[in-house]
Amino acid sequence: LTALRQAIDAHAIVAITDARGIITFVNDRFCEISKYSRQELLGQTHRIIKSDHHPKAFFVEMWRTISRGGVWHGEVCNRAKDGSLYWLYTTICPVKDASNAITHFISIRTDITECKTVEAARAASRAFERAARIDLLTGLPNRTVLLDRIQGYIRLGRTDFAVVFLDFDRFKLVNDSLGHDVGDALLKDIANRLRNELGLPDSSGAGGEDNCVARLGGDEFVVLLANVANARQGSALAERLLAALEPPRVIQEYEVQSTASMGLVMGDAQYARAEEMIRDADTAMYEAKRSGKNRCVVFNPAMRERILRRLTLEKDLRRAIPESQLSLAYQPILSLFDGELRSVEALLRWTHPTLGPIGPGEFIPIAEESDLILRLGEWVLEEGCRQLAAWTTELGSLAPRTVSINLSRKQFMLPNLPDLIRRVIERSGIAPARVQLEVTEDFFASDLRAAIDAMRSIKSLGVKLAIDDFGTGASSFASLHQFPVDVLKIDRSMLSGVERSKDTAALIHSLAVLVRNLGITMVAEGIEKPSQVIALQELGCELGQGYYFARPMSAAAIQEAIVDGALMRSSVGGAMSFANRWQRKLEVFEATLANT
Ligand code: C2E
Ligand code: MG
Ligand code: MG
Repeated sequence: LTALRQAIDAHAIVAITDARGIITFVNDRFCEISKYSRQELLGQTHRIIKSDHHPKAFFVEMWRTISRGGVWHGEVCNRAKDGSLYWLYTTICPVKDASNAITHFISIRTDITECKTVEAARAASRAFERAARIDLLTGLPNRTVLLDRIQGYIRLGRTDFAVVFLDFDRFKLVNDSLGHDVGDALLKDIANRLRNELGLPDSSGAGGEDNCVARLGGDEFVVLLANVANARQGSALAERLLAALEPPRVIQEYEVQSTASMGLVMGDAQYARAEEMIRDADTAMYEAKRSGKNRCVVFNPAMRERILRRLTLEKDLRRAIPESQLSLAYQPILSLFDGELRSVEALLRWTHPTLGPIGPGEFIPIAEESDLILRLGEWVLEEGCRQLAAWTTELGSLAPRTVSINLSRKQFMLPNLPDLIRRVIERSGIAPARVQLEVTEDFFASDLRAAIDAMRSIKSLGVKLAIDDFGTGASSFASLHQFPVDVLKIDRSMLSGVERSKDTAALIHSLAVLVRNLGITMVAEGIEKPSQVIALQELGCELGQGYYFARPMSAAAIQEAIVDGALMRSSVGGAMSFANRWQRKLEVFEATLANT
């Protein structure tokens, strides 16, 4: 018995309590591991070493077992006097007297803290590994896994696979307007649709040798298509994914539709790194967005150059105002009847320090993608008004009557635009009626009411308003009467057949009659030929602008031309000498009309 007791004492942690659980005996090991002295423990219950690790039910079950005379064993986490936790494998045996009543409980425990720590560390590291490879929201593999997979293909020198980059067309809108919960649900649904369409198991998007869907973050996903022979095959698969993504889904009673733009790149021996393939697929995706969204575009190297140029221009454009690289060119707008100079349109010019002149057709859309357009727009307004004031000082009554300034859609939507316009015009000292602001039809496409309200508040400043590029968008013949505008500029594209096509002529004529009744002045843009002048005049169009009269030119050149009377001459001399040649031209025109 002594030997047994010595053996137990050396290794086991032993305690004895009475029937109510009051501790009546502890051995040295018990004191050692709990860091309490024997005096502190005797007379207490085991609650003194209880940790918060187990739920209440755990102890209820233990007590139920032993109070009915059963033996309980299990792993228990205890708290030592200094607060540290330790794990014991615990066995509790009830001791009964001759009448079978419980008199004591003996507990014998062994220290398993070390095993528990190792086990916990393993579990943590497993969870960690999983988290490092799985996107927690969708359960899809993440960027790391995808890069590994692609790199594996590259290492094997394989070219029979495609990488497809996906970005959702209205995701930000959904997220911002319907909330992040809806956004998250949408992402999960997208992940499921992609998995289903590719026949991948639910648990993961990565099959060993097969297709793989990964989420890179945000609304960016990448599909790795294994075993596709060429881009045509890859595109066909991508089309199937597009079709699977298109139908709307209902999320929290909202019907949410979100199409994707995709860029596809084929495996190619020239790729050394997976990142390069993803970058190129991303570039092609950008082209898909640019060319109308909800489509898949296959990468080609020219795209990379375009994007690089775009990125360079965007970066450099930020320095254009402070470094005085911007200027305005002015294009005259003349009367088609008497050749009188009526107005000039201010057109923004950028001379890049190394790339030279960049056209507004290229840099304005770039500026419009960021808020840069607001600063550029304000600069144009200021500079245009300042120039008109300067001409007036120099030329008096010969100065252009008005200056036309193009507004971008983002500017038009600014709530404080009227304030800004008022401030700029006041500072320049010119009358508000001498400033004409051009807006394009697509400004009204989304919200007609809001657009009309915005136009009214601008008009109330006393400035003039023009609709630019009329005839290019979803033309709003029917709602024209609702717009508080002074001028309608018909686009160059409508002019192309005006001297030859009866239909075009009839269209412009009826438009001219309509706008005259509405008190609106019509300007024809992009006049390049005298025959167009004749036709337009006949059709009742009052004003014209185009290379035929004058190209956009510097403020100094405008001033010079006015002083010389050159502008008058060019229109009168070119489009006519109208009075003399009018009759003959009209005959030619009528003959052409008759022939079409
Ligand atoms: P827009 O407002 O319709 O300006 C007329 C454009 O047509 C100008 O091109 C002008 O040079 C061109 N043009 C004029 N006559 C002819 C012609 O007879 N034949 C041809 N082929 N073209 C002619 P530009 O200067 O390249 O400007 C292009 C567009 O860039 C403008 O179209 C306007 O939408 C935008 N833009 C220019 N300056 C600004 C600006 O300061 N702010 C904003 N928001 N947009 C601007
Ligand atoms: Mg314009
Ligand atoms: Mg225009």
